[in-house]
Amino acid sequence: MLACMTVSGEPQVNAKKVGFISLGCPKALVDSERILTQLRAEGYHIAPTYEEADTVIVNTCGFITPAVEESLSAIGEALDATGRVIVTGCLGERPETIRERHPKVAAITGSQDVEGVMSAIHELLPPDQNPFTSLIPGMSGGEVKLTPRHYSYLKIAEGCNHKCAFCIIPKLRGLQASRDAGEVLYEAFRLIASGTRELMVISQDTSAYGIDVRYRESEFQGKQVRAHLLDLAVKLGEMGAWVRMHYVYPYPHVDEIVKLMAQGKILPYLDVPLQHASPEVLRRMRRPGAGRQLDTIRRWREICPDLTIRSTFIVGFPGETEADFQLLLDFLEEARLDRVGAFPYSEVEEADATHFEGRVPEAVKEARLARFMEVAQRISAEKLQEKVGRTLEVIIDEYNDDEGDLSGTRLIGRTKGDAPGIDGQVYLYAGELAGQVKIGDIVSARIEDADEYDLFGEVTALLPWQPNVPQLGALVKH
Ligand code: SF4
Repeated sequence: MLACMTVSGEPQVNAKKVGFISLGCPKALVDSERILTQLRAEGYHIAPTYEEADTVIVNTCGFITPAVEESLSAIGEALDATGRVIVTGCLGERPETIRERHPKVAAITGSQDVEGVMSAIHELLPPDQNPFTSLIPGMSGGEVKLTPRHYSYLKIAEGCNHKCAFCIIPKLRGLQASRDAGEVLYEAFRLIASGTRELMVISQDTSAYGIDVRYRESEFQGKQVRAHLLDLAVKLGEMGAWVRMHYVYPYPHVDEIVKLMAQGKILPYLDVPLQHASPEVLRRMRRPGAGRQLDTIRRWREICPDLTIRSTFIVGFPGETEADFQLLLDFLEEARLDRVGAFPYSEVEEADATHFEGRVPEAVKEARLARFMEVAQRISAEKLQEKVGRTLEVIIDEYNDDEGDLSGTRLIGRTKGDAPGIDGQVYLYAGELAGQVKIGDIVSARIEDADEYDLFGEVTALLPWQPNVPQLGALVKH
């Protein structure tokens, strides 16, 4: 369960060892990467097991009740194993919930508080005063990534200005704070230079990027760039990696982003969390950008016919009637979204919706979820059948070395329409390219079959990787 990573550089005798548990969404994962990077820069080693850890940091999630429970049990497990635990992340914003269950926790900090975590670590495990690690910045290696080398999350903003009734993110993470475009672009540049081929742009409300800083300009490679999603997407697209947009709300300027997708500048993929389709439920949920969803989707598809739309929905929100739910199913049939996830509504202690009347019984929620998933699965299968016979670009994530397979003959990857971890996969025979395709390569593949979620086919060619960013490996070689 600990973040399993080895630390590059010479092993230090008696180095302080920190275990790390990272829970929650990709935004929390980025926070974990920042803390781990700082730990490593200060000469701490990351312990892969509890037995080796002097202390453990748990980066928690507090979004919904099951996530809170998972976080509390991870804290308990780490305490039992090591006795010294620092808690950070979303649940850290509610220290009383943690102390009530685990009074022996050594320190608690909120989300994005790298400094707070580091000062707690310094107190528990004072850093070595080794001149080689303390005086030379970054000596023990670069930034720590918890994703594979070929893809990375790029967080462009923190917090959220909305007040969705079921959500406590604005209470936990505060109002939206966008990063300067220059800072984001330099980070993207560094990531691509060191091997990233796919960037996942994330925040709580990606469409609202820059509003809080009035689209402030900042410097990137000698030019001024606005903190605006369109400008950022153009610049990211120019770097030549796959750029995937997550958590995009359907605001009017998203049409311009979809035009970039149609021009092949960024991936034709939109992750749009719609949550429902009944106007009455959306009104009570207080969802941003919730009007005329079908018209918006039709328009996007006219601009970019190859667009993959992913969305998530909540069923059984307080007050949801059978008629509301039927509207949601009708919407699903009409919109024919490519990728869909759904959750039964779950109460969160401090969310406004917890006090709403009209609770939907658990059995009804579960029955609606099953009906929803049946429709979503059928549509997904139909849409994937449309891809059979086509040749698509696929990025390779892993080898599928089942027993009896020769190494490298079977591969698992994703098309431009699939985000890692949440969408489908493509299972490929390497064919004549067996043994030549590496993880992170982009290949073209002939799709021969499909089921409800995944595609199956064969590699036809290995595609050259030529980003507009110099590659660190190449620089070292020549
Ligand atoms: S947009 Fe709504 S659901 Fe998303 S983080 Fe903001 S308040 Fe929460």
